Amino acid sequence: MGWLPDLADPTFRPGWREQVRLHWVANIIMLRSWQHTVGFILWSLIALPGWLMWAWFFLFLAALAAKGSLSTSAFIGTTALGLIPILAIQHLAFVVAFRRHYAPCYRVAMNRAGTPVCERCGHLLGQSAMECPECGRVA
Ligand SMILES: [Zn+2]
Repeated sequence: MGWLPDLADPTFRPGWREQVRLHWVANIIMLRSWQHTVGFILWSLIALPGWLMWAWFFLFLAALAAKGSLSTSAFIGTTALGLIPILAIQHLAFVVAFRRHYAPCYRVAMNRAGTPVCERCGHLLGQSAMECPECGRVA
């Protein structure tokens, strides 16, 4: 799993106009599929308990800082450090949601735009390919 999710074969390099068009179509395809839309939202919510704990922690430390028991720099540093694991979990959840629920829609948009691509793995296919040589998915 990369730091940023792969949409398709890295040799596929559309211009920015084509990228915007493909993303527009892919978003519409995803929003028309309740499984992909709900799946994307549920994966994105994985970090919610962490956010709620951070908010509680923030308010707790803010109360200590207001009483003078905690310096302003310690308050800022501690709350900022607490964000790091939550942002990491949020990013991983985004990558999983993106790969599972958005990338397949992007590949459908690529196929509709005339670039044959495997909808499961993103491998570019020849015009007459019936089976993906990368993952074996049959079109
Ligand atoms: Zn494939």
